Amino acid sequence: MAARATDKNRTKFLLDEKDIPTKWYNIQADFKSPAPPVLHPGTGQPIGPADLAPLFPMELIKQEVSRARWIEIPDEVRDILKLWRPSPLFRARRLEKVLGTPARIYYKYEGVSPAGSHKPNTAVAQAYYNKKEKVTRLSTETGAGQWGSALALASQLFGLQCKVYMVKVSYQQKPYRRIMMETWGAQVVASPSPDTQAGKKILGQDPNSPGSLGIAISEAVEDAATRDDTKYSLGSVLNHVLMHQTIIGQEAKKQLEKADDEADVVIGCAGGGSNFAGLSFPFAADKLTGKRKTTRIIAVEPTACPSLTKGKYTYDFGDTVGMTPLVKMHTLGHGFVPAPLHAGGLRYHGMAPLVCKLYDEGVIEAIAVPQIATFQAAMQFARSEGIIPAPESAHAIRVVIDEALRCKKEGKRQAILFNLSGHGHFDLGAYEAFLAGKLEDYEYPAAKIEEALRGVPQVKA
Ligand SMILES: *Cc1c(COP(=O)(O)O)cnc(C)c1O
Repeated sequence: MAARATDKNRTKFLLDEKDIPTKWYNIQADFKSPAPPVLHPGTGQPIGPADLAPLFPMELIKQEVSRARWIEIPDEVRDILKLWRPSPLFRARRLEKVLGTPARIYYKYEGVSPAGSHKPNTAVAQAYYNKKEKVTRLSTETGAGQWGSALALASQLFGLQCKVYMVKVSYQQKPYRRIMMETWGAQVVASPSPDTQAGKKILGQDPNSPGSLGIAISEAVEDAATRDDTKYSLGSVLNHVLMHQTIIGQEAKKQLEKADDEADVVIGCAGGGSNFAGLSFPFAADKLTGKRKTTRIIAVEPTACPSLTKGKYTYDFGDTVGMTPLVKMHTLGHGFVPAPLHAGGLRYHGMAPLVCKLYDEGVIEAIAVPQIATFQAAMQFARSEGIIPAPESAHAIRVVIDEALRCKKEGKRQAILFNLSGHGHFDLGAYEAFLAGKLEDYEYPAAKIEEALRGVPQVKA
């Protein structure tokens, strides 16, 4: 107990390399009913491993449908994770003081990875399994470049070639992420590109197309489907991606033990759902198994793209074009195009099916927050804790601050834990806009969502 008493007063809770988790946690093992099947868009029947084999290595397909509770992390993957893991857990003492809250605020900081976010946690695992199954080249899409840079890094570390289709507006407006990817050896092209049939078709219709994530996905999938040496890699949404991120929550639990504390509220921002799931699923496990049922778990999304809070829980395509299998999720409609938010990583029309199931069953909550209030929270955080958060992560911070103020009002001494999923060093343009008073709030786009939801395919349950 003496050691604990001194540990408690720390600001950083650090673990040793040997404490990097040895297993990924698979939440599907603790579901009372299985997750809804993924359906073939043509037949409406559940898809099998053979349908996915042109795109993903078999080991990842197995992980996608596994119901085993724990899956061993290969030593080769853990060796690379050692470059930045275990990531630190901080107690936000200065922010607590500024807010005058009796709450204890903790954050797990994933910005310490070389790419500056949580995304390399799965990129490394995915590159490893591809390499092991003799794949020599990976294709992917990227919006602002966070996922592309994570996969470029992982590909480089395993000696794989990597081709990134980067949405053209970002390619032109945000050169630094592209340069990062090229530094790590990836080939980056502006999408739509003349390198694929999908890209050529769009360019034929509109040579000045600014591109979209949907178009870039189509190009990357076509690239992998038409080449024997290449597979496709996705940075969020899929079950195996969420599972690879659970090392975040496992570490955080150990670190909270060092702080002699337990989380009452767990918060993460949710775009496709992977950093939120990574932190929260090990805590959701305790709710599902009855070990600790009182923990509140909150996913935070932008008001302008509110898939959990305003979307419909139904089968829809994962991409904009309608090429992917159908998955049951909270969706705004695959044709929904969100406003040009600065939190590019949160502009997705759907949400990870595993996160949606937990939301549907009331295990987790969700809140949508507007852009300006989000940046106000980011400023308060940067000016008290120092770290400039990614605009995505700032969504979580908004709700953390609101929860801490609620604790103050109610006189509650709760422990609030959140995921600081990345730093904002490549998002300073957004901070510039905020500081100049030029940032906009986008209203909840009710009419656009209603229209996009009419395009959701009819599927017999
Ligand atoms: C990509 C990204 C997100 C959103 O993706 P999720 O899969 O929902 O985690 C959030 N934060 C950062 C820093 C990102 O790079």
